[in-house]
Amino acid sequence: MAVSGLDAEVAVVGLGAWGSAALWQLAARGVDVIGIDRFAPGHAWGASHGGSRMFRITCLEHPGLVPLARRSEELWRDLEKASDEKLFVRSGGLLIGPPDGPITGGTLRAAEAHGVEVEVMTAAELADRYPLHAAVPAGHIGVREPSAGIVRPEATIRAALEQARAAGARVLTGSQVTGLSTVGGMVDVAMSPGTLRVRRAVVTVGAWLPTLVPGLPLETVRMPICWFHPGGGGKSFELDQFPVFMREIDGGRVLWGNGRENGHDVKLGLEYGGGGFRPMDPEDTDRSVGAEDWSELTQLLAAYVPGLDPAPARVAVGMFSRTPDGQFVIGSPGGDPGLIVAGGCNAHGGKHALGIGEALADLVTEGETRMLLDFTDVDRDFLPAPAISGHISDRRSQIS
Ligand SMILES: Cc1cc2nc3c(=O)[nH]c(=O)nc-3n(C[C@H](O)[C@H](O)[C@H](O)COP(=O)(O)OP(=O)(O)OC[C@H]3O[C@@H](n4cnc5c(N)ncnc54)[C@H](O)[C@@H]3O)c2cc1C
Repeated sequence: MAVSGLDAEVAVVGLGAWGSAALWQLAARGVDVIGIDRFAPGHAWGASHGGSRMFRITCLEHPGLVPLARRSEELWRDLEKASDEKLFVRSGGLLIGPPDGPITGGTLRAAEAHGVEVEVMTAAELADRYPLHAAVPAGHIGVREPSAGIVRPEATIRAALEQARAAGARVLTGSQVTGLSTVGGMVDVAMSPGTLRVRRAVVTVGAWLPTLVPGLPLETVRMPICWFHPGGGGKSFELDQFPVFMREIDGGRVLWGNGRENGHDVKLGLEYGGGGFRPMDPEDTDRSVGAEDWSELTQLLAAYVPGLDPAPARVAVGMFSRTPDGQFVIGSPGGDPGLIVAGGCNAHGGKHALGIGEALADLVTEGETRMLLDFTDVDRDFLPAPAISGHISDRRSQIS
């Protein structure tokens, strides 16, 4: 579908989990598409590294995301089949907290609204079945979602890019896009070296979106990820014993993580926890880590997950962009059809990556999509998200 005067029909700028999925979906539709990334996709500079992302159908961030998660899982199965690689591991998931709290309450609301199967356990039942979670107060509950699990982001990106290439997409890596301008119904994509002219540019640059498309209500945030070894107590913490979870603990703090999987240690994090979680300049290349990234977690482990060595075995830094209302921004800013942006993942967009890729392909080829709803529209009114709890007043997204 090459068009005279154009270098490609469509450019996808940014090949993380979202952009590589869009590239795959566009190429599969026969669109002449070129994907561009400033680094080598699968890298550890942005949002899509660390071996795993929590997958849940019961999207407590917004019940309207449930169909997107369901569709994403179907696409993960397709991609696994096409690539002959394990990309999605169903372990079941646990959401733990007071029955009316944001974690369990939001989960139960999403499950009820969309008929997702979940199992509710008392604290005593939880202690019996999942003893690695210690000190769950008697009044708290556990909600088990059998359809939850983890997805493997780097492997997913690799597989999506392979499928995209096989379907005819071109991929340029090590090329930074420095500007996007619409000219007479076309888009000029300025990069090093030279400029590409395309009909549509899909911009999926994650935490760098505020730099490339200024004016969107986005803030880039640094988030540490920590991995811990099982301690000497003989508990192995495999994923089936310690499945993906979010757990509301004292003071409304939320602990999240998953057991050992595919050679990775036990992964844990605190939603908005510790000094390591803070706004950052996306162009800042400092990824060094320090005690502020794990000290709060380390202090909590003895009480809540006592079978782990308290010092982390590995620490990494990720970054993502967040919006005032905690929801994604997707669409053409100001209605300009040449430019389609998708960002503001608020650290809960990994599980939706493949559905978002398909929705972006819909927007390019059909001009609309049934997968995304008004709450993700880039031109919506952004109202602040209600506080998840009183622990930290500036809570504008959820890590999950
Ligand atoms: C620590 C952490 C934990 C998370 N945990 C979960 C979870 O458990 N569950 C969940 O669902 N979600 C989670 N998320 C969110 C999820 O990881 C992301 O939503 C998902 O990976 C999509 O990322 P992305 O493609 O938008 O961004 P990225 O993966 O950052 O991709 C953006 C790409 O754009 C490229 N790029 C940037 N600027 C330019 C430019 N100018 N020119 C060319 N290329 C450019 C970058 O090199 C990069 O490859 C988490 C995020 C983080 C940071």
